Formats: sequence, C-alpha cells, structure tokens
Amino acid sequence: MASKALMNTYARMSVAFERGEGAWLYDADGNKFLDALSGIAVCGLGHAHPAVTRAISEQAAQLIHTSNLYTIPLQEQLAERLTELSGMDQVFFGNSGAEANEAAIKLARLHGHKQGINKPAIVVMEQSFHGRTLATLSATGNRKAQAGFEPLVSGFVRAPFDDIRALEQIADNNQDVCAILLEPIQGEAGVRIPSSDYLRQIRDLCDRKGWLMMLDEVQTGNGRSGTFFAYQQHNLLPDVVTTAKGLANGVPIGACLARNDVASLMGPGSHGSTYGGNPLACAAALAVLDTLEQDGLMARAAELGGWMVAALREELDGTEHIRDIRGKGLMIGIEFDQPITELAVLAKVKGILINVTGGGHIVRLLPPLITNDTEANLMVGVISKLIKIVVGDDRLNRRG
Ligand SMILES: *Cc1c(COP(=O)(O)O)cnc(C)c1O
Repeated sequence: MASKALMNTYARMSVAFERGEGAWLYDADGNKFLDALSGIAVCGLGHAHPAVTRAISEQAAQLIHTSNLYTIPLQEQLAERLTELSGMDQVFFGNSGAEANEAAIKLARLHGHKQGINKPAIVVMEQSFHGRTLATLSATGNRKAQAGFEPLVSGFVRAPFDDIRALEQIADNNQDVCAILLEPIQGEAGVRIPSSDYLRQIRDLCDRKGWLMMLDEVQTGNGRSGTFFAYQQHNLLPDVVTTAKGLANGVPIGACLARNDVASLMGPGSHGSTYGGNPLACAAALAVLDTLEQDGLMARAAELGGWMVAALREELDGTEHIRDIRGKGLMIGIEFDQPITELAVLAKVKGILINVTGGGHIVRLLPPLITNDTEANLMVGVISKLIKIVVGDDRLNRRG
C-alpha cells in the first residue's frame, strides 16, 4: 500500500525498484523487470547509463546550482546544441514538460498582443496532453484532467486532431487566434499518428494566417520518434517547439525553443525559473545528446521501432479485439476495441513494464532507445502472448 503521507494523485502498482541497468529494473527481492516504458519516455538511454552517471557525478562534485542571475556556461552550450539540432534560434529552460509548454503559451500571447489581438487564443486539439499546471491542463483535451479545477484558463479553442478542414474553419471564423499548439504524435492519447501531410498543411495555414506553429515534443522529442524531433520527418520548421522527458534521462529539465522573431518577444523579467537549466541538469542533457549522436540512437529507434511494430503485427495477426497496431520510432501503440487496463499489471507480473493509456484502450510501449535485439524480441514475445491470453479470456469477451 502507498504511504498515507502521499497525496493520492497516482494509482500506483505495488512494486518498488531499487536499481536499474540498461533496459532492466530490479526490485529489492532481486526480481528483474524489462522496461518497455522508460519511466514514460524519460530514460531513453536506459537506466544508469554510464555517460549520464559520469556527467551527473562529476557535475555534482563541482557545482549543482548557481542562478540564472549569472552566466551558466553549460546552459549556453546546451542551448547551442539544441538550436543546431532543431533549426530553432533560442531556448528557454525550465524543469518539466508543463513548464516548457507554459513558456510556449506565454510566447503565443505576446505574439497575439503584438498583432493587436486583445484576447489572443491558441488552437489546441481534442485528446491532447500538455501537462498539469492550470494553463497546460486547460490546453489539454481531456475532461478528466480538468474536472474540478475550474475555472480553467481561457484563450484556448478546441479542434479535432488530424482534421485540417476544422482548422481552416476556425481560421475563417475566429480572428482572435494567434497560434496553434499540438503534439506531432499524440502520446497520452495512445500514440495517435496523424496523416502524413497534416503538419505540412498546418505549417501552410500558419503562414497564411500569421499563427505560430507550436509543437509539443515533450514526449516525441529527443530521438524517440526516430529523428531528434518528430517534425524533422516532415521537412518543415515550427515557430516554437517544446521538449522535456527524454532530454536529460531523468534529471528534471524542460526546454522551449523558438525562432528568433518569436523568442525576442521575451525580455529580462518577462519569464523565469529558479533552477531551470542549472549546471547539473544541463550536464546530464549534454551527455544525453552526445550519446544519442555517437551511438546512432535516433536511427536505431527508427529501425527497432519498425521491426517491433512488424513483429507485433505478425504475432497478433487475427487476434480478436485488436483494432490497430502502429508506431513511429520507439512510440508504439496497440489499440483495442474495449478497455484492457488490467494488461499493465499482468505484464508486470510477467516481468515486463508497459503502460495502458487512451482511456484504457491502448497499450503504449516506449522502450529505451538502447534496447537490444534480444530484449526487443522478449518484449514482443511476452506482450503478444499475454494479449492473446487476456483476449481469449472469458472476462474480456463477456464484457464486449
Ligand atoms: C508528459 C507530457 C507533458 C507534461 O510533462 P511534465 O514533465 O509531466 O510536466 C506535456 N506534453 C506532453 C506531450 C507529454 O507527453
């Protein structure tokens, strides 16, 4: 049972891990678990990666935190690396995905006001997830995340995902819109991948209307989708992009990247974060970027993810209740026609960590980018077998 001293914000499984190595986690009794979730797309380099461990230990021994009132060379280095990798010009650092998105939302509002819009609005998507702060939960397209926290932050206009005509209608009818914020692949919704020309159509619409195209790559970023950012597979640049999760392999960090003309809307005093981009977090992130590049892990994510989706489709071919098996890089979704929430606990019992999301209908796999072929094979094998058992089980069929 979870401690009564903790606020009851998570339905936790009854397992505690003591240490990790690569794609494996170990509990205090020595049981091992193959991690096909990576702490929700955070530990892309797996657990206790030597390069990250070294960077953190050396930096901790030297200097953990100073303040953004002073120059932080590691933060400057990291910003330069990220701008090179992304095609953006400037970076703001916070400590989480929500904080990165808050910065993006504030940039959009500055942009709107500059255009003379009194109450600037941002288009956001149904089933999106952008975080748990008041502004980001207001942007989130999930009533469950919002319920009880009203009044929500105003200035968001909701649109269906992967529907360019709906966006064009909003563009024709709403003169207050100044930006659009979306995930290039919806993660929490269950790895929902839009049609291949959707982002390009949004880029064109934003250019026509003077809207900022803002991409939330908190989950898709840092190599997970097969390229550093998912938009890099679409031959375009957004105006603003946010990331967090995989950036420092578990050390809290968030980043909001923007093009010069947007970033320059901020000035000293207009935004901040006490330990955003501190030396410790930046040292960890730099080690992550080095490793992603040196070890070819982005290409590896694309290749391994493609293989896993193909293998899952083969193993699960003809299995009842499965609607779709899809993926992009190492974001993989297996969609069912009814809730299969129990799969996460059953998989844990079998020694594999997975996640069920999208209203309980979708198994989401986010394995570390360092997963080897044997481990990937094991993930596919155990998960497929378990799905076939659960789907063949009377409980599920009776429910349907
Ligand atoms: C996880 C996530 C967030 C929120 O990140 P936190 O670090 O939990 O604040 C925002 N957007 C997306 C797409 C996410 O997956």
